[in-house]
Amino acid sequence: SPSAQEDASEQQGHPQKKVHTQVAEHYNARPDVGVEKRKESTIFRMKSFNNWLKSVLIGRYARQRDRVLDVGVGKGGDLLKWSKAKIQFFIGCDIASKSIEQAKERYRTMRNPPFEAHFHAMDCYSEPISNVVPPNQVFDMVSMQFCLHYSFETEEKARMMLHNVTSQLKPGGVFIGTIPDAYWIVKKLKSESDDRLEIGNSIYSIRFERRDTFEKFGSKYWFHLEDAIDDCPEYLVHFPTFQKLAEEYGLELIYNKKFHEVYEEASQELDFNQLLFRMNVISEEGNLSADEWEAANIYLAFAFRKK
Ligand code: SAM
Repeated sequence: SPSAQEDASEQQGHPQKKVHTQVAEHYNARPDVGVEKRKESTIFRMKSFNNWLKSVLIGRYARQRDRVLDVGVGKGGDLLKWSKAKIQFFIGCDIASKSIEQAKERYRTMRNPPFEAHFHAMDCYSEPISNVVPPNQVFDMVSMQFCLHYSFETEEKARMMLHNVTSQLKPGGVFIGTIPDAYWIVKKLKSESDDRLEIGNSIYSIRFERRDTFEKFGSKYWFHLEDAIDDCPEYLVHFPTFQKLAEEYGLELIYNKKFHEVYEEASQELDFNQLLFRMNVISEEGNLSADEWEAANIYLAFAFRKK
């Protein structure tokens, strides 16, 4: 486990393995399994639900011919969603170089890619995006899906992340994303008796090293999600701190909802309701198990508009 690695490297007198290296290694090590294999996953429905939820966010906020920056693009799992939104230009960045290669390959094999796309391997929380993106490139939208929380390791990283999100986003442009809901996680942890340091069910676990105080940055926990994330270090995002910091970078909060709430709201709309079936969230064989449904609600979705 990563903690064992840290212990071992400390014992050998080596500097601790940096968390961002662990995160990159973690995501680089996960294979891109393809649609058919994905269906065999124990959390297939939850993955489908998360994809549906991202489609809702993109469907709500993306406009035809948008120029999009995807920070923490991973293996390019959202490329088809952007294609359906009819955007015209896309840049995807991620710290995991293997994932970037897979994203490039996924783009290359898309049928008639309807937009121009470029991919860059970079640490988006430690270096400025201008290292890879020409300074005159303007974006209409920035997306950060399931990745912003890694920047809350330090205030410096969170600020670099926000600099990268906003420096080339046009006024009126939108920043969308999904993150674990720190409020929900801590509330659940505190509801556990006898000072337990872990919450979870059959498909996820979140393990803390302490539960008395939580700092605004660097509040680390270890996250395990069956068939997706193997005990990776992550950080709580205290939403009021995030919102206040985002305001400093000219961002105004326009949307903030738990995944369950997004579902309640969006499933009432015909298009998004039909999409639940098309994306296999619901089928004749069933839908999310109770444990998947609980795990889905770890997350919240947000949107900011640049003033
Ligand atoms: N956004 C993709 C999606 O929704 O499928 C990938 C999400 S994955 C859970 C988190 C991603 O954040 C990983 O691809 C990881 O490499 C990326 N990431 C973590 N730290 C990063 C950093 N410092 N700079 C850029 N990407 C980072």
